[in-house]
Amino acid sequence: MKKFSVGILGATGTVGQNYIKLLQEHPWFEIVDIAASPRSAGKSFGEAVKEKWQLSIPIPKEIKDLIVRDVQDFKKVPENLNFVFSAINMPKKEQIRELEYEYAKNGIPVISNNSAHRWTPDVPMIIGEINSEHAKVIPIQQKNNGFTRGFIVVKPNCSLQSYLTPIYALEKAGYKVDKLIITTLQAVSGAGYPGVPSLDIVDNIVPYISGEEKKTEEEPLKILGKIGESGIEKDNSIRISATCTRVPVSYGHTASVNVKFKREVPKKEEIIDVWKDFKSLPQELDLPFAPKQPIIYLENINRPQPKKDRDNDKGMAVTVGRLREDNVFDYKFVSLSHNTIRGAAGGAILNAELLVAKGYIN
Ligand code: NAP
Repeated sequence: MKKFSVGILGATGTVGQNYIKLLQEHPWFEIVDIAASPRSAGKSFGEAVKEKWQLSIPIPKEIKDLIVRDVQDFKKVPENLNFVFSAINMPKKEQIRELEYEYAKNGIPVISNNSAHRWTPDVPMIIGEINSEHAKVIPIQQKNNGFTRGFIVVKPNCSLQSYLTPIYALEKAGYKVDKLIITTLQAVSGAGYPGVPSLDIVDNIVPYISGEEKKTEEEPLKILGKIGESGIEKDNSIRISATCTRVPVSYGHTASVNVKFKREVPKKEEIIDVWKDFKSLPQELDLPFAPKQPIIYLENINRPQPKKDRDNDKGMAVTVGRLREDNVFDYKFVSLSHNTIRGAAGGAILNAELLVAKGYIN
């Protein structure tokens, strides 16, 4: 199979670097274009990132000498570019919204990590194992905007997959969820580079992350929603209350979740079986980035832990533990996922694989 030629917008950032690492030797995708801000444009990738390179592998040599393009410079977009991953950060969300539209208008599909389009009704917000069928709004989006080949697909906030995948598995098994109380403990890499100042986070917990609680409470409603005439309609049947905190952990977002069911309350063993047996389209299609077991349940009383469990199945699995009865709600558990892999670059690569498999990218 001839590989798809892909670009990375924001290649020099935390998430962008993860794309570069994860796409090395990808069987379907090959990086041909890297783009960032005007500060980096015109420099070789190696020169542009310098000490900002945060990964434990050296910069791949086929990327190191590529010249960084200004994300706004459409004249330099390679002709053979099939689609882009977007991991840019700009001062205003409106700028990102416009930029991603511009790529789609130019016939280039955009698979984005950014929150700018998460609430655009005709833009699907996809977690591969939960709502890949939301890709069906792509033709509506193309019609609404006059796009021919291009479109935008986003993935949700980086902490969401750890708790929403187990909750979705239970809903799919027939145990309808009524309410969730979620407290996240989010890694510093979630804030990008250089991120949170060290004096704010070493020996400390910051009990506030701007905008994060709204995302935690509202994004699941779109992901669990249905396709309507003009886009995705929210599922308002679950109520969520969230507290989001920043903790001195490098990678891996943890969540403590209390859950109340609407009607039937499953037994503890049933919940664990549902999680262990859960599989979805990425597994059925055996996609390159699909974790073999999307939800791993650990019996050990002191797991999951970011350091020990974030890399499960190459950082693509969600690890859950500490399921126990709750005195106020029905159950509580702790979940974990890798924020820059499952929660960002890896999750978006899985979305791209799904879009290829379903024929939206060709
Ligand atoms: P980051 O480390 O700050 O990187 C930002 C990237 O955007 C860099 O490549 C930077 O290029 C580029 N950029 C900055 N200002 C720009 C401008 N004015 N015009 C064009 N490009 C510009 O951020 P990140 O953590 O990788 O996050 C990127 C996006 O992914 C954000 O929207 C973030 O919310 C989202 N996200 C992050 C995570 C995570 O765990 N970190 C997870 C999920 C989603 P220069 O190097 O040239 O400045």
